[in-house]
Amino acid sequence: MTGGGLLLQGGTVFDGLGSPGRVADVAVVDGRVAAVGGDPPAGLRRVDCRDRYVTPGFVDTHAHSDLVHLLEEPQPFKLLQGVTTEVVGNCGLTFAPLDPASAEVAGELWSGLAAGVPIQPSGFGKLAERLDRAGPANNLALLVGHGTLRLTANGLEEELRPGAAERMAALAAEAFEAGAVGLSSGLIYVPGSYADTGELVALARVAAGYGGTYATHMRDEGVHLEAALEEAVTIARTAGARLQVSHCKAAGRAARGSSGRLLERLAAARLDGVDAQGDQYPYDAGATVLSSLLPPAVAAGGTEAMRARLRDPASRAALRTQAERGGVGDGGWTLAGPADVLLTGHADAGLVGRTLAEAAAGRDPWDALCDLVAGDPAATIVIRLMDEDDVRAILASPLVGVGSDSLAPTGLEHPRTWGCFPRLLGRYVREEQVLTWEQAIRKATWLGARQFRLDGRGLLVEGAVADLCVFDPVTVGHDGTYLDPDVPVTGIEHVVLAGDLVVEHGRYSGRRSGRVLRGPGSRLAALGGR
Ligand SMILES: [Zn+2]
Repeated sequence: MTGGGLLLQGGTVFDGLGSPGRVADVAVVDGRVAAVGGDPPAGLRRVDCRDRYVTPGFVDTHAHSDLVHLLEEPQPFKLLQGVTTEVVGNCGLTFAPLDPASAEVAGELWSGLAAGVPIQPSGFGKLAERLDRAGPANNLALLVGHGTLRLTANGLEEELRPGAAERMAALAAEAFEAGAVGLSSGLIYVPGSYADTGELVALARVAAGYGGTYATHMRDEGVHLEAALEEAVTIARTAGARLQVSHCKAAGRAARGSSGRLLERLAAARLDGVDAQGDQYPYDAGATVLSSLLPPAVAAGGTEAMRARLRDPASRAALRTQAERGGVGDGGWTLAGPADVLLTGHADAGLVGRTLAEAAAGRDPWDALCDLVAGDPAATIVIRLMDEDDVRAILASPLVGVGSDSLAPTGLEHPRTWGCFPRLLGRYVREEQVLTWEQAIRKATWLGARQFRLDGRGLLVEGAVADLCVFDPVTVGHDGTYLDPDVPVTGIEHVVLAGDLVVEHGRYSGRRSGRVLRGPGSRLAALGGR
């Protein structure tokens, strides 16, 4: 940590709450913002911020960096974007609580999310402690995943066994006591997709009891978006939980133009007393597992059963009939054409960087898909799903914050992993003026910090934790593309983590100054934290 504090001099300061910027000095003492404007205390180290914007550190409300920060080398890919806190454990997929049996299945299904870190059996609190000890480059707030709870309590079976619901609730309670900030669900992924609304209400109620948020990758993001959002709102309302709708979008050609209805329903839920909001990444493509194009039922009973189904011509044909219906629970096959699906991870490395159409090499694309998933059930893709007008409409909404949905910063990943926040600012604020600086900064900071109750973060006022970002509004941006994603960001100049200047002139210090931020349910938090 830096000793005597910092004085960020002469920048235009944004509070994160949506106020316009104003020129002021920001004094940082003992890890907190000591003053904004006025006479600063003496003896602070001066950092020249003239012609720069000084904001709260960005809060990435939707990341999959759960295990990334356990890698031997520190991982500054978010810090270099100005992100000081990532909310991880999204889409129902977390790496705790896992017992030996569920850890093995998780290893088969979700290794694409694990950054190469071995997936081990672990209680939730143990994983949180391990992350804290390892020292993440930035702060982490942890969600507990419904899919993981279900996998551990019930394996990959569709029907809940007697006692499984109680087991899930008990494991969830343990996670909240260990500091989880919310419950996540991923209702297109097995085994999360097997849950009915009542099962999710019961767990969201546990979350609400500990002050946690319900964050959901909804059952459908395309033509059945409204029904899926209705379910999410019902769950939050019945359970009394805050709602975070993950990666808001109108997915697939048939859903083009539905962003307006999504935003209207979110607003209506708020008027109705549900604290509902969402997050979004500013791109027209998503990234997911290749198997999500198949009906989720394909995976019932485990990966060997799935491989057997995919290799059997009769069940392959039956799956295709279901997939082509394109209803809720039928998988994502109808969302995009084979040319819009880019393979980003596969056991056969020669396939990476090719589209599904290219990988099919003249064969039937459905057969190619089944072969590719059978060959690697954890294969990952980038998939062009969204219309740019829908992307912009959602960006303009004050109810939707920013979540990168990033995976590990290795290999051919979606460019959002390296550039989500700079792209928002450079492209959609400076170049296209879809929103103002203060609106974008609020969406990238306070909106998410508030929804996940990250106390003292996401705002730049006297007394707040000094997680800060200083950027150049003229150059901030990211030019990464789907085929060349890992290019350096521009314009992110300084990043401060609880008073520590961890990025200076765009260079990472190498210090692992992040920590795990415990949620309101945590006994540790009640005792004042570490
Ligand atoms: Zn998701």
